[in-house]
Amino acid sequence: MERTHHLPDIRTLSPKELSQVVSELGQPAFRAKQLNEWLFEKNVCSFEEMTNLPKAFREQLAEHFFFAVPTEVVKQVSKDGSRKYLLQFPDGVAVETVGMPSRNRLAVCISTQAGCNMGCAFCATGLAGLTRSLTAQEMVDQVVHVSRDLGERVTSVVFMGQGEPFANFNETVRALRMLNSEHGLNIGARHLTVSTCGIIPNIRAFADLPEQFTLAVSLHSAIQSTRNQLMPGVKKYTLVRLHEALQLYTEKTGRRPTYEFAMIEGINDTNPEMNALCDFCEGTLCHVNLIQLNDIPDSPFKPSPMKKVEELQRRLQMRGVETTIRNSRGSDIDAACGQLKQRKINVHLS
Ligand code: SF4
Repeated sequence: MERTHHLPDIRTLSPKELSQVVSELGQPAFRAKQLNEWLFEKNVCSFEEMTNLPKAFREQLAEHFFFAVPTEVVKQVSKDGSRKYLLQFPDGVAVETVGMPSRNRLAVCISTQAGCNMGCAFCATGLAGLTRSLTAQEMVDQVVHVSRDLGERVTSVVFMGQGEPFANFNETVRALRMLNSEHGLNIGARHLTVSTCGIIPNIRAFADLPEQFTLAVSLHSAIQSTRNQLMPGVKKYTLVRLHEALQLYTEKTGRRPTYEFAMIEGINDTNPEMNALCDFCEGTLCHVNLIQLNDIPDSPFKPSPMKKVEELQRRLQMRGVETTIRNSRGSDIDAACGQLKQRKINVHLS
């Protein structure tokens, strides 16, 4: 399909504007409702698919509008069934999206920015800097792409791909609402998880949302100097303030945030690091996800051995902290964030 970039994306129109278009094109008012259903509930990406609209009307729409849906540039399929995509938007920027099917469930991990300026030391995306933030529709489009590719309904979405969602807060919240809406993808709020490095003002704003969206915080170390080294982008939001903000969050929402802890050999798997994490979590409402860092070629950071991961889990559990060891899915397919794009860039350069 030829792309017609000079036309507006029909999905950027408000319901009122859609009704206006319907009436200007001489159609009865109920067509606006049909159009809305095709666009936001059934998530089609062409006018041809809108089979209950008259052909002439569909042709008229196609003369005035287009669908700014992303193009699949690369797809990798893992032995465990997960799929990783590099999706490119009409302006040429590309992001990574991962689909993780399991029995009766389909989880999708989406990006919220093309690139990222948080500069996390262990992350390929962080090295390349920020290109631009994504719109809410572009976030939803990633979910729709995976759903169509696998022919399944998406049951949960994690905002954990490229980018810092809380550095693109308003569009992230809009995307959450589009995914949650019964006139959208209708995914339960608790099954929508946003992962932040810990941008405190937006943790507070997130706590004020009426919906029960889930919060995850990339912690990676509970010792300030290590965390500064690993995550320089959130240096100014100190661990003391973060701890405070998370207490307020749990008091206000009654919900349990998840702390992500990617274990890196010799960096955050030492005795003092383990003690500091236990102290940070003990007595608070939280759930810790321990994960072995992905083994990235040429990276100075190596995954901790499994026995260290298990040791940390034991220590946390002894202090009454709920903990899960997560498998890194798709480890055979460049699954760490930024790797696929990096590979693609390397391919282009070589
Ligand atoms: S880990 Fe996430 S927040 Fe950190 S640089 Fe990479 S994409 Fe950005």
